[in-house]
Amino acid sequence: ILAGRTALVTGSTSGIGLGIAKLLATAGARVMLNGFGKPEEIAAARREVAKAGNTAEPPHSAADLSDPAQVRAMCAEAEQALGQVDILVNNAGIQFTSPVEAFPDDKWDAIIAINLSSNFHAIKALLPAMKARGWGRIVNIASAHGLVASPEKVAYVTAKHGVVGMTRTVALEVAQAGVTCNAVCPGFVRTPLAEKQVTALAEKNGITEEAALKDFLLAKQPSKRWVEVEEVARMALYLCGPGSDSVNGAALSIDGGWVAA
Ligand code: NAD
Repeated sequence: ILAGRTALVTGSTSGIGLGIAKLLATAGARVMLNGFGKPEEIAAARREVAKAGNTAEPPHSAADLSDPAQVRAMCAEAEQALGQVDILVNNAGIQFTSPVEAFPDDKWDAIIAINLSSNFHAIKALLPAMKARGWGRIVNIASAHGLVASPEKVAYVTAKHGVVGMTRTVALEVAQAGVTCNAVCPGFVRTPLAEKQVTALAEKNGITEEAALKDFLLAKQPSKRWVEVEEVARMALYLCGPGSDSVNGAALSIDGGWVAA
């Protein structure tokens, strides 16, 4: 369903981004990857995407998205490598937890830069060509924390609420241009980022990882199970595929009921 389309997926060397890149490739899109990792991890991600799409290995940008100049350079590189960018998935993100009064300034700056500002810089760089062609899809991976808060996540919650606001604003601006801009708001997804939080909580509270998972993380999630990467990828694919033209400016929850509570 995405044959002939091209996609840039940020933060796609791991977790949700890699899952989305694989599913978009399976649907026929040519993709460009971005993200950090050891050379062998990046090579493995490229192989996985190539296998999913039954195509050549996709290009990869090592751009550090905390730097606006590198975001712009990555977008230019993607247009060069893919010919054009039809689909932008803003997915790269990091987490840090601390009470607000102890929250380190540099962590605040990094989370705002990567989780929020990089989305703005990438949209700004790629939107003009999408509008000119009359087709484009922007999918911002926000979070349940784009809609509700939790303690000790001030930068993350602020950034993700910002992503939802940015999504709505861009959606209004592109509403007649053949472009849509939507946010996906997952609950806890089984990825390295989330599994690290379980380990940290277990250590902090002197309990097993299993107990930490049940007591803390999944306490938020009425389904009492992880959301799987594949489920989030399917929502992203839906937003890029046929039949979703009128879905614009939405913040779609995929959280086992979290924000319904
Ligand atoms: P992950 O840690 O598995 O992957 C993050 C990706 O972003 C990696 O490819 C990493 O290399 C890349 N990245 C990190 N910093 C970067 C930078 N400065 N420049 C470029 N790339 C960078 O995390 P994940 O769980 O797959 O999270 C992906 C997105 O989904 C994030 O925006 C996260 O906030 C969001 N999210 C995750 C969950 C969850 O439970 N895992 C829930 C809701 C939302």
